[in-house]
Amino acid sequence: MQGQPEHSGGCQCGAVRFEVRGELKDSSICHCRMCQKAFGAYYAPLVSVRGAQFSWTRGQPRHFQSSNLVRRGFCSECGTPLTYEAPDGMAIAAGAFDQPARLPPVRQYGMEARLPFIDALGGLPSSRTEQDVEALEFLARLVSHQHPDHDTPHWPPQSR
Ligand SMILES: [Zn+2]
Ligand SMILES: [Zn+2]
Repeated sequence: MQGQPEHSGGCQCGAVRFEVRGELKDSSICHCRMCQKAFGAYYAPLVSVRGAQFSWTRGQPRHFQSSNLVRRGFCSECGTPLTYEAPDGMAIAAGAFDQPARLPPVRQYGMEARLPFIDALGGLPSSRTEQDVEALEFLARLVSHQHPDHDTPHWPPQSR
């Protein structure tokens, strides 16, 4: 294989990175209670990589066997949830992709556990990070240790 992969991504700390060659069409959110726990979130955004060529390009996730049939991968260094692995295929946490905006969800699963306030989220009072005046001093001192949204030859950089 040669050329740029269609998709890349990884965990927050950069210890685990992946690439996908081929088209991804099956992007979804799952409201089930197992996914809520595994992501520590109201629902899990997942993109199936079935039918595409997926490979880990740096490191490997650790796994928790969340049931007899499913295991979930995460970065053992930073804890970022990364995979849902079932007998019929693997899905990758949508937010772990470098460009998640390219993978909009097209359906929902696990509706029996869907939290009742989900529809109201878009209407909540909102602001951009830099609009929070009380946080300006905090933000001025903040140095991110998050891996950038592209592949890097070495990580972390030597200068840190
Ligand atoms: Zn990590
Ligand atoms: Zn689920």
